[in-house]
Amino acid sequence: MTLDQPTIDRLARLPVAPGQLLINGAWGDGQNPRSEVLSPIDGQVLTTLASASAADVARATAAARAAFESGVWSRATPAARKAVLHRLADLIEAHAVELAVLGVRDNGTDIAMAIKAEPGSAAGTFRYYAEAIDKVYGEIAPTPANILALIHREPVGVVAAIVPWNFPLMIGAWKLAPALAAGNSVVLKPAETASLSLLRLAELALEAGLPPGVLNVVTGPGRVTGEALALSMDVDVLVFTGSGATGRKLLQYSAASNLKRCYLELGGKSPNIIFADAPDLALAAKTAAFAIFRNAGQVCVAGSRLLVEASIHDDFVAALAEATEKMTLGNPLQLDTQIGAVNSETQLAANLGFITDAMAEGGHIALGGTRALTETGGYYMQPTIVTHVAPQHRLAREEVFGPVLAVTAFDTEAEALALANATDYGLAAGVWTANLSRAHRMIRGIRAGVVHVNTYGGADATVPLGGVKQSGNGSDKSLHALDKYTDLKTAWIQL
Ligand code: NAD
Repeated sequence: MTLDQPTIDRLARLPVAPGQLLINGAWGDGQNPRSEVLSPIDGQVLTTLASASAADVARATAAARAAFESGVWSRATPAARKAVLHRLADLIEAHAVELAVLGVRDNGTDIAMAIKAEPGSAAGTFRYYAEAIDKVYGEIAPTPANILALIHREPVGVVAAIVPWNFPLMIGAWKLAPALAAGNSVVLKPAETASLSLLRLAELALEAGLPPGVLNVVTGPGRVTGEALALSMDVDVLVFTGSGATGRKLLQYSAASNLKRCYLELGGKSPNIIFADAPDLALAAKTAAFAIFRNAGQVCVAGSRLLVEASIHDDFVAALAEATEKMTLGNPLQLDTQIGAVNSETQLAANLGFITDAMAEGGHIALGGTRALTETGGYYMQPTIVTHVAPQHRLAREEVFGPVLAVTAFDTEAEALALANATDYGLAAGVWTANLSRAHRMIRGIRAGVVHVNTYGGADATVPLGGVKQSGNGSDKSLHALDKYTDLKTAWIQL
């Protein structure tokens, strides 16, 4: 893999083919009018995207069902499925730069992060579940001696996966890899503003030998294509990553259709808590900047609420601002850019709306606060630090999903914990302290799917990622994720 600026520049000049639907192994148009894809880098039209109607979605779910019932994949040996998924990982790695550049042109993530977080992570996820699937067994229950009770694990059938725009390949792979490894068929619905790299991934999946109909991709607006998929009577399990507002609708669609099981990975308002006894405050400040501003804040686990012990508040905010100013905001296709574009004009406007409200509620802008690089025609925003944010302020309660950090001071550990939990969300948290007992008390006390200590944001395939409270249910990654894609069946045998 060559990741150098000339290679990136060359790939970025290539025309982008119009996106099509993949149904039953064949590429084609949708019934609804195509939509334009605007690049967040410069606001220019990148290509067009097919738009699937409810009838197109029905063809996709029918193809997935037929493929599942045929057994071509669902009853293939685990070793055969494993070989295909490894081949797909090989192909993702071979096309890593191409996939990353295409994704960046579509969604605006900086290329240095995209190359690791997107194809890099996706390939690793496919390998992890490829390797897992022939090591997960059924069970024999400890029943009375005249009974043999076997607990089988079976694929659920047809899985619908609806994914967001921030890390399409990484999050797509978190759903696709365990679902496919377990033998299911899938209908994937990417986000309107980040479909292109997932369409290329689907092409590579066919090349790797995934049989037709096992993976289908339907693109189009959430309220049309996504809604039709979520209302389908032919989907057994719906896995979703996105906003709470959409998650709520999906539960309603499930109730209004076939009661499909829904697993929702939703947003966050994650606290990053800095105690005065943190082992390295300079590192904490640098990491806090990275925790919120990487990918322009468009990260579900972003440390978007900074809680700082009052005795160090002013010095810490100064160090944080200094670290933030060193992060390069710019064209996401430049290797030295650390903060790329905001995904869309709509998202940018929403981010700026939070700043207006924060100022009206008494927040102080310590850094940023405005749109940036307007001359490019793209969607950029200054990394923004707002201090004096009170728990009742909108900026402390609602997810921005942009480069905006809310800072609040606290005096005691108990107050820090109360502030950390004063949110509807429960996705992630960070705690910075040299006091081991305090670290463990905070880990126990904070209601979140992950608590980082003296770091922020690290993860790999072996650990679950999921939320509590209104951050969702079920987890992606790790062996636990396989539970979503398998049903248990008991065989009760009289001996
Ligand atoms: P979104 O909810 O607007 O869209 C997500 C997906 O749902 C898209 O594919 C969209 O087309 C589809 N959709 C929208 N309306 C729909 C409807 N009525 N029916 C069916 N599908 C519909 O979210 P987004 O703006 O793309 O992503 C940002 C959100 O995702 C943030 O809240 C972020 O925190 C969350 N997120 C969570 C995680 C996690 O692991 N918990 C990871 C990344 C992003």
